[in-house]
Amino acid sequence: MSLDGRRARIDRVLFTEEEIAAKVRELAARIRADYEGKPLTVVGILKGAFVFTADLVRALDMPLRVDFMAVSSYGFATQTSGIIRILKDLDRPIRDQHVLLIEDIVDTGLTLRYLREHLLAQSPASLRACVLLDKPERRQVDVPVEYVGFTIPDEFVVGYGIDYAEQFRYLPYIACVKLED
Ligand code: 5GP
Repeated sequence: MSLDGRRARIDRVLFTEEEIAAKVRELAARIRADYEGKPLTVVGILKGAFVFTADLVRALDMPLRVDFMAVSSYGFATQTSGIIRILKDLDRPIRDQHVLLIEDIVDTGLTLRYLREHLLAQSPASLRACVLLDKPERRQVDVPVEYVGFTIPDEFVVGYGIDYAEQFRYLPYIACVKLED
């Protein structure tokens, strides 16, 4: 599927603002219980997970450190190459920290696998991943995801921080896009 260079419009809403907020609260309750009393560092992956990270840390409502990494993603293409480029690495070392990686979508799994290996090489006390949307149909590599928000079919989604060619990140809901001819 190639969406390159084509104009897109919102087709239908997959998850409303309220449904996302309820899911974020549910994930936060699980994470809070699992990390109680442990020094937690949350690593949000830019740009797609910036809204999710902001909402999740506020719902967590516990002491934690926040860091971000930026990796090259689809840009104007929708097929992942498997070659991931780090545009911004962590600001602070994570050695002996309990690290929770926060991603928008796990699709083929290649990005998450790369990020896990990159972070594990820095000797954190533990590493888990929290992903808002899981597309299991397109998985190419088996990568553990400890916290999953919603499981969705193979459709291209936008909104809630997730873009199509830098558009639609501002939408408070998650939607499928339709291409215009
Ligand atoms: P993976 O390496 O698992 O194939 O890809 C993960 C990344 O691909 C996500 O972080 C996201 O940037 C991008 N991606 C996967 N599916 C979608 C989608 O439906 N919409 C958008 N905008 N990006 C997607």
